[in-house]
Amino acid sequence: MPIYFDHAATTATRPEVLEKMLPLLGDGYGNPSSVYALARTAKKALEQARDQVAAAINATPQEIFFTGSGTESDNWAVIATAEQLSARGKHIITSNVEHHAVLHTCKYLEKRGYEVTYIPINSDGLISAADVEKAIRPDTILISIMAANNEIGTLQPIDEIGAIAKSHKIAFHTDAVQAVGHVPIDVKAQNIDMLSLSGHKFYGPKGVGALFVRKGIAIKSFIHGGAQERGRRAGTENVAGIVGMAEALALAVSEMLEEAARQSAIRDRIIDEVLATVPKSRLNGSRDKRLPNNVNISFDYIEGESLLLLLDMKGIYASSGSACTSGSLDPSHVLLAIGLPHEKAHGSLRITLGRDNADSDVDTLMKELPSIVQRLRDMSPLTGQ
Ligand SMILES: *Cc1c(COP(=O)(O)O)cnc(C)c1O
Repeated sequence: MPIYFDHAATTATRPEVLEKMLPLLGDGYGNPSSVYALARTAKKALEQARDQVAAAINATPQEIFFTGSGTESDNWAVIATAEQLSARGKHIITSNVEHHAVLHTCKYLEKRGYEVTYIPINSDGLISAADVEKAIRPDTILISIMAANNEIGTLQPIDEIGAIAKSHKIAFHTDAVQAVGHVPIDVKAQNIDMLSLSGHKFYGPKGVGALFVRKGIAIKSFIHGGAQERGRRAGTENVAGIVGMAEALALAVSEMLEEAARQSAIRDRIIDEVLATVPKSRLNGSRDKRLPNNVNISFDYIEGESLLLLLDMKGIYASSGSACTSGSLDPSHVLLAIGLPHEKAHGSLRITLGRDNADSDVDTLMKELPSIVQRLRDMSPLTGQ
């Protein structure tokens, strides 16, 4: 059995979740907008899912809008807020380590006359809330800072940033796609105005997400058409996907503390053993303020891509940089942002743990990884420089 160490890229849909979804793809196929019994059953399932998602982040059901992905939620929050508030100002604050769903959306807005401040992170991969506050201007209309980074797992100070945004009366959006279902999120206590989440990052299906929009925040629709999602997001709902996502989230939240403790013990063991066994390796991102399931280590003198291929040959599935950037030869923008030079940013390995990983997987990893790194270094023209 191969070892799957890439849970930040995606997760397998849980069997309990599939079981809830399948009837809605089969006999329960009704369109929730229709009026007869078949449709009412679908509508009821949809609204129960909304209750479950709301409960998981301490929101009300009216504040949850289902979307087609985490990416869509990010685009919607950032673009709709920018357009809605453009009369008040055209300045947005974000960070230089956001997921491309936020970063490329900000670049798109820059081409349309908006100004964006990208707060840099420190060498630990953390954003300073004070830096965010210093960047606020009279024309700032939106702060968008991710809750947890998808590459190096760092947890950003969103509580502090939420309080700052509130005191300056600026809308605060957080891309919490890596955080929801993994670490506690409370939109009320954390003063979050908008939050993006995605089903496939917590053992739900792909192609379904949600945007939380705090009551009182007017948000324009992004997808135009029918009156679904209270007129805010048109298109016949992906009922099975939404129900699956909600069920997966409820399960993830109920198991969160236990799983976080279990996975962080495995995470710490990997970090300790790799750093102790492999010379010239370093951990990327803060040691403590990181997701329970994230390990990101750089190895001098090697190519991350070659490392992944050799691990794959041993049945170990991991990642280097993010899945979206692999395939291109650009080093990860996150690793460059923490100050790694290009060649070190290229030689990084991301291991993201999940429910299916156990200590025996670490045994296998430690049996293979040190010799693979050594083999690659022996072949590398960079070694010894
Ligand atoms: C995966 C991810 C997204 C994109 O979500 P999709 O549902 O895959 O579109 C956005 N932000 C972060 C931080 C992610 O990890």
